[in-house]
Amino acid sequence: MPDVKNTKTFAPEVVFKDYMDVTKGRTKNPWNYDPIPEEVKNSPVEFYIYNVGPYMKVINSGGLGKQKVQACPDGEKYSKPIEIHKWVIDHADMGEYNMKTILIEGKDRVREMVSPNNDPETDLRKWGIFYSKNNPPSQAEIDDANRRLRDTMNQIVKYGDFLYTATNGQGGTRRGEITAVYMTAAKWLGVERPWYSVSEKLNPCPGCGDNVKPNIRKHTACGWRFDLNRFEGDTAPSAPQSKE
Ligand SMILES: [Zn+2]
Repeated sequence: MPDVKNTKTFAPEVVFKDYMDVTKGRTKNPWNYDPIPEEVKNSPVEFYIYNVGPYMKVINSGGLGKQKVQACPDGEKYSKPIEIHKWVIDHADMGEYNMKTILIEGKDRVREMVSPNNDPETDLRKWGIFYSKNNPPSQAEIDDANRRLRDTMNQIVKYGDFLYTATNGQGGTRRGEITAVYMTAAKWLGVERPWYSVSEKLNPCPGCGDNVKPNIRKHTACGWRFDLNRFEGDTAPSAPQSKE
């Protein structure tokens, strides 16, 4: 453990090197962060987060920001990894110009990113996402991730079959609920369905790379608007440059 206490509170006179002058306004950012030891600041990359699945996922970690786990590109075994260092530095504003420095071990950070709160509902491993100390990942790790993903894909296709024959209570069908997510699952499994044929052309979304149906106006998963050729909404990933 490096020589930094897990939490630290500064006295105002330490934090307040410069100050807010009511006549001159703010002279300098009054916050003074805990000096971080070099071994923490420059800690090496220790973990890699990979994706063997065809779905992009955004991990929202509040103050630590959002990170996008890319979909595994067609023909590749796994995605380009997200790198997580041995130490992750976070800060918490305690009010009254008291700032807490929080060190998170990389191993805790990746676990929380991939399996938040140990909740099976939000566990990203079912989508083929996993973390490893290895770069490249071992074949056993890749096989394990694919096994979890296959279970999910089988469930999705099974539910697609259900939607294909189900009625909605008003005498209509539920086939409209069979979205690109279902077709991507069938494609990944290499199975034909009445609602999906291998010859159906799915196109990669310019926003996230996921396969989507042709002729849709918006990809709801990432917010890409095909009719506007750009992202829409504040939850969308950062938009690439587009010429209009
Ligand atoms: Zn998209």
